[in-house]
Amino acid sequence: MPSVIARIRSTGARAPLAQLLTVPLGLDVWEVRPDHLVLQADEAQAARLQAMGYDVEQLQMTDSYLSDFATARAVAGYHTVQTLEEDLRRLADDNPEVVELREIGRSIENRPLWALRIGERRGSAHKVAVMGCHHAREWISVEVPYRLAEYLVDNASTEPVQSWLQRGEVWVAPMVNPDGHEHTRAQNRLWRKNRRRNPDGSIGVDPNRNYGYMWGVLNVNTSSHVPSDETYVGPRAFSEPETRAVRNLVAREFFGGVLTYHSYSQLILYPWGYTSGPVEDESDLGTMRGLAEDMQRLIRGVHGETYTAQQASELYPTAGDTTDWVYGEYGVPSFTVELRPATALEGGFILPADQIEPCWEENRPAALAFLGNVLDRPEP
Ligand SMILES: [Zn+2]
Repeated sequence: MPSVIARIRSTGARAPLAQLLTVPLGLDVWEVRPDHLVLQADEAQAARLQAMGYDVEQLQMTDSYLSDFATARAVAGYHTVQTLEEDLRRLADDNPEVVELREIGRSIENRPLWALRIGERRGSAHKVAVMGCHHAREWISVEVPYRLAEYLVDNASTEPVQSWLQRGEVWVAPMVNPDGHEHTRAQNRLWRKNRRRNPDGSIGVDPNRNYGYMWGVLNVNTSSHVPSDETYVGPRAFSEPETRAVRNLVAREFFGGVLTYHSYSQLILYPWGYTSGPVEDESDLGTMRGLAEDMQRLIRGVHGETYTAQQASELYPTAGDTTDWVYGEYGVPSFTVELRPATALEGGFILPADQIEPCWEENRPAALAFLGNVLDRPEP
């Protein structure tokens, strides 16, 4: 059945927007704003939303969206599983004194999950982790952490990077979901989940709902127990090899902070996602809110783009994501950054390749500020 990208507005009390996130329609929600949602739906789902009393405005047929944005040029600018591995290997081979390539686990289709350990010392108390591409279609979320790794290596003998790498480590895993990413190159550009075969015949668990803090406590469109849904949480916490690899890394290395990139919407999200209540510890909340606001200011200072700092659940409720788990389990600052663009009409998940560089440029000072916050802390 043809599918559409549609903007949904509430027409009144009979059909409040928030309620739409809780109905079990299997919707693929792309964008959540105070006055509208953007989602991908087949025509029957769209008709049903209209019948429920929502205002459904078709922005584009999914096919025409793909032919507008998923061009050869848009593909050429981004890493593949293979070119990423080559580039990570090259960075490590060319700079053995400061970089080490580590396999942190294997995906469900047995692809290696790669991370760079950047730093002169091992076993330092100062460590930070940066990750990308939990969600296959969010290609820009590979490029920003990859470029950050490259930048750290290129500036290893310049302050402040030099001191950070002398006293600490930065771990960068740019592609947590390589199977899904490969699928977006070969088959379906808009694939989101991993490639788990579910018992009901559907495919995929959402890796960013599979972490083990408050896992599974919600059952809504944005955090679903229905295997065929885009946000399927999996049969149990850490059921997936990709999230187990991240869990094992974080459990072993005791990071002082974790930054994970996604797209799109231009947001800086801090815990909690599973509840609308704030982080209970006021000092932690102040630290994370302050850092998120600093990052927002630093990003805006580069090209004038607004990335809104907010609690994750203000976007939509999610249980079992990386950011809640890192803070909930380890009590250290953790953020999800939703990269460019701001809207579906600017490409949504398919960011034009000529925006990779400016997107990285504007995120660089914010990422460095986060690294500095963790790596410059006094010895514990
Ligand atoms: Zn994502």
